[in-house]
Amino acid sequence: MSKKRSLDTICIQGGWEPKNGEPRQVPIYQSTTFKYSTSEQMGRLFDLEESGYFYTRLANPTNDAVAAKICQLEGGVAAMLTSSGQAANFYAVMNLCEAGDHIVSSGAIYGGTTNLFTVTIPKMGVECTLVNPDASEEELEKAFRPNTKALFAETIANPALTVLDIEKFAAVAHRHGVPLIVDNTFATPINCRPFEWGADIVTHSTTKYMDGHAATVGGCIVDSGNFDWEAYHDRFKGLTEPDESYHGIIYTQKFGKLAYITKATSQLMRDLGSIQSPQNAFLINIGLETLHLRMPRHCANALAVARYLKSRDDVAWVSYPGLEGDKYYELARKYMPNGTCGVISFGLKGGRQAAAEFMDKLKLCSIETHVADSRTAVLHPASHTHRQLNEEQLKAAGVDPSMIRFSLGLEDPEDIIEDVRQALEN
Ligand SMILES: *Cc1c(COP(=O)(O)O)cnc(C)c1O
Repeated sequence: MSKKRSLDTICIQGGWEPKNGEPRQVPIYQSTTFKYSTSEQMGRLFDLEESGYFYTRLANPTNDAVAAKICQLEGGVAAMLTSSGQAANFYAVMNLCEAGDHIVSSGAIYGGTTNLFTVTIPKMGVECTLVNPDASEEELEKAFRPNTKALFAETIANPALTVLDIEKFAAVAHRHGVPLIVDNTFATPINCRPFEWGADIVTHSTTKYMDGHAATVGGCIVDSGNFDWEAYHDRFKGLTEPDESYHGIIYTQKFGKLAYITKATSQLMRDLGSIQSPQNAFLINIGLETLHLRMPRHCANALAVARYLKSRDDVAWVSYPGLEGDKYYELARKYMPNGTCGVISFGLKGGRQAAAEFMDKLKLCSIETHVADSRTAVLHPASHTHRQLNEEQLKAAGVDPSMIRFSLGLEDPEDIIEDVRQALEN
């Protein structure tokens, strides 16, 4: 399918183009394995000499169709689905790193990713330096080392709602000869396409807006194909030198722009196995078919509720990059002129105690560890997702103890506002 088609059309038809008499909807290839007639052909598949399906841990047609749709939406050259967003970010980084390496990441990222980068991958010998997403280029530069392999950040941070200056981060990454990896979960390609601003690799938790119905945990990695691994041959030997586990294949030589995703699939997925199930990929695809219709409504609801909260005397602060006067409003206008996301955060003047009382009184909106669902959900990070952190650590993570994270669903905004009003006033 031509990349010139609009995102709306890709949401509906991208990734799956049935031939005469084939199913209109992406079929669920609920099969671990695929049949071949000659032993030689199967051997060629194992050598990556021929493309074809042989075992679902490595590739499955349903997963590939859905990955291809997300790839088209982001404007990339190749993509892979993973079992979760966590797996996507883990693979995205470990496809470039090994023990002794280092990455730089924005400190304003999802809590699970902070744990991954600062607790788990260090145990594998990969260190991470966290930087302030608002840091100047000079400050960012200081975090880089000779063994740095990637720069990582989120387009709109969960839950801090900082907006990434993608061009600034891309410029610094490229000056140091490393790719910029952007987790685009909150913006989705409907609102922002990081490749257009210089990002090299995009990741997603498809669990959020792409699924959009709180039905399926999943992830995706998309490669722009723009990063020139060979220009930094010695830094990215995993891509530029022979892979002994594939009879000495050199990914960059054999697969060109597809090198990064091919390596992630044939090496990491083969060995670590965090594959998406075809059944779940099917559900994600149903979600994707309406992503372009849902995102504007999530954003409109978020803006309406943000404005309402801002107008109230008992509300201490409201954070939403789509709200006039927000610290990130101008950056959001630049990178996401059509809208940002459906998540807002705010604090009550009564602080932590008032937050708990408010949440308990909500009737329509529910307390959930989730965002980006069609149903409005609310969470108090200091009591829930960031419960282990003390006040000082909360501050470092950009989580105010009073912060209420509010993920606006697709209900009528008047009903949501009425629920908020009664919870604040009763
Ligand atoms: C939820 C989330 C993740 C983790 O995704 P899972 O699908 O829950 O594993 C990663 N990044 C961001 C920005 C998220 O919101």
